[in-house]
Amino acid sequence: MEIKSAVFIKGVIGSEGLPQPPRPVAAFFGRSNVGKSSVINTLTRQKDLAHANKRAGRTTEINYFLVNDAWYLVDLPGYGYANVPGPLRKKMAGYISWFAADMSIDVRAAVLIVDAEIGAKDSDREIFKLLTEYGRPVIILANKCDKGRRLDIEKNIAVIVKEFAPAKVIRHSAKTGEGRGELLTALFEEKEKTA
Ligand code: GDP
Repeated sequence: MEIKSAVFIKGVIGSEGLPQPPRPVAAFFGRSNVGKSSVINTLTRQKDLAHANKRAGRTTEINYFLVNDAWYLVDLPGYGYANVPGPLRKKMAGYISWFAADMSIDVRAAVLIVDAEIGAKDSDREIFKLLTEYGRPVIILANKCDKGRRLDIEKNIAVIVKEFAPAKVIRHSAKTGEGRGELLTALFEEKEKTA
């Protein structure tokens, strides 16, 4: 499987705005600055796909991209950002919870991106719990594996594997492309398993 096309469809803030027709979804969750936009850009091999929409003021929306005219890649708002004012943070958390819980959205893979250099945070654990509670198939993407000391990365990944078991953990670097193929394969395995 390769990604041949990926185009931005729309920013969504509620079920009434979901793009039609409904299609299988691969959804991407992660703290602000974990590299979510970079991961999406590396995956789709488009240099600026996710960042461009972020700059257009869509940081709080749920951004839908159509991939290969067949499935939606969904970019959820980044969470855990200390500088975001309380009410906005609450609103973004609300969107994430709604998305995880709305069973009319056919999430075949929920990719939770964590930072391999600094390890998982409580906010990551909360999102994991939420996704698990709603039975979403979670893949953990340990991003920024190229950064910092090798030994620290290994230690953090060992903890991540244990903490998020039995979820699959993929080592990834949006910078070097490490793990991109594995992520693509995992996305499609998950999609087929639940098809
Ligand atoms: P987002 O807020 O989660 O969308 O994060 P961005 O994609 O904007 O990335 C935040 C910062 O981390 C940027 O400076 C990126 O260049 C950097 N970054 C993202 N992924 C990686 C990675 O895998 N390795 C390294 N070294 N830096 C990364």
